[in-house]
Amino acid sequence: MLGLVELADTAPLFGLEQSYSEEVLQAAFEARMHDWIRAKDKCRALPDKRMCVLLNGVSSAGELELAAAKLQRLFVEPYEHMGKSVTMAVKVGFAPYNGNETTMSTALQNAAQALNKAKSSSRLFEIYSNTRAKLERDTVELLADLDTALERNEFELYFQPKVHAAFNNLVGAEALIRWVKADGEVVPPGRFIDTAEQNDIIKPLSWWTIKSAVSHLSRWPEQMSVAVNASPRLLLDSEIISVVLDALDIYSVDASRLTLEVTETVMIEDQGRMLETLAALRDHGVRIAIDDFGTGFSSLAYFRDLPADEIKIDQSFVRDMLVSKKDHAIVKAVIDLAHNFSLKVVAEGVETNEIADRLATLKCDVLQGYAYDRPMPVDEFELAYKLR
Ligand code: C2E
Ligand code: CA
Ligand code: CA
Repeated sequence: MLGLVELADTAPLFGLEQSYSEEVLQAAFEARMHDWIRAKDKCRALPDKRMCVLLNGVSSAGELELAAAKLQRLFVEPYEHMGKSVTMAVKVGFAPYNGNETTMSTALQNAAQALNKAKSSSRLFEIYSNTRAKLERDTVELLADLDTALERNEFELYFQPKVHAAFNNLVGAEALIRWVKADGEVVPPGRFIDTAEQNDIIKPLSWWTIKSAVSHLSRWPEQMSVAVNASPRLLLDSEIISVVLDALDIYSVDASRLTLEVTETVMIEDQGRMLETLAALRDHGVRIAIDDFGTGFSSLAYFRDLPADEIKIDQSFVRDMLVSKKDHAIVKAVIDLAHNFSLKVVAEGVETNEIADRLATLKCDVLQGYAYDRPMPVDEFELAYKLR
């Protein structure tokens, strides 16, 4: 938490010139501030009789109340000068500061805003709270918009080809959701999937995705498969099993042509139920891929215990593998290890032909990335790959 403490104006100390009086008071102010903070906190003087403090590990309103109470006690004591006492009054504005996400200058601006509020009230301090309130408002608005978008059928699946590394032929595609607004704006999933995933709307949204992906797949050649991203929340109950099986049944698509991509970071949180759901889907023939592999805390036991068929090496390793020896070593190790466990390996984020060639040499099975194509609307995809 960042605090901005301001000393209120006082009349000059008895017998002193204005500027000298201010210096003395400033020194007294700083001394009290140092009495206030703890060893792990930081404190720095700013212009205009202000001091900035970083209160380490203080984040809740309760902790702030305690800190502020101590500050109040310290400043209740009047300052004695030549037998006369002067009251030193302060006001404080607090703002969240986590050392990285919000920059220091934003936190300072926020604290200054809170300080102004405190100065115009009878309270000693105020906490900047706009962020949370605004975030909550934004979330509520987005969720309502997503709801309407579902009703109006504004979601669309884009498809990105997956290519066989050795034979260079199309083997399938990953279905990636887009929100196409009424005005034609195409909203990428990064702007709404996280919020959806933290709320129930992820279910209807995902059910739509699964059905839609399978319906497109049913019109494509038998040897083609489609991968759909599955949110962790969906795997915590068995509803997804019936949704998937119904879709495959309605469109008469073989289960082995559908892959569900689940992120590794999520899988590692163990959860028996998640593994059960995945195992059940797999028993029905659906393929399971571990997405973004390498970004979590993979252990070797993981390879042994996972109900998976495919590993997708995260693009962060693939991107730099020709310049970073370490990334290259990771990619190679993952491919070899996965093969030892009879898992297929997909590399994503393949942006150049050179990377594609190297991955083929390393015996990676399938490649996906801008080197081949970006995700595109279904019509374009079908046209480009002569699927209809
Ligand atoms: P992801 O599953 O890791 O998908 C791959 C992302 O990388 C896609 O972004 C894709 O457009 C992008 N990409 C593909 N090739 C390249 C490349 O060569 N270079 C670079 N820099 N990027 C590449 P997109 O479509 O914006 O999707 C972002 C994420 O949103 C996906 O990451 C996935 O986690 C999530 N997502 C997308 N569609 C769905 C969905 O229907 N349901 C759920 N639950 N999540 C989805
Ligand atoms: Ca994916
Ligand atoms: Ca991925």
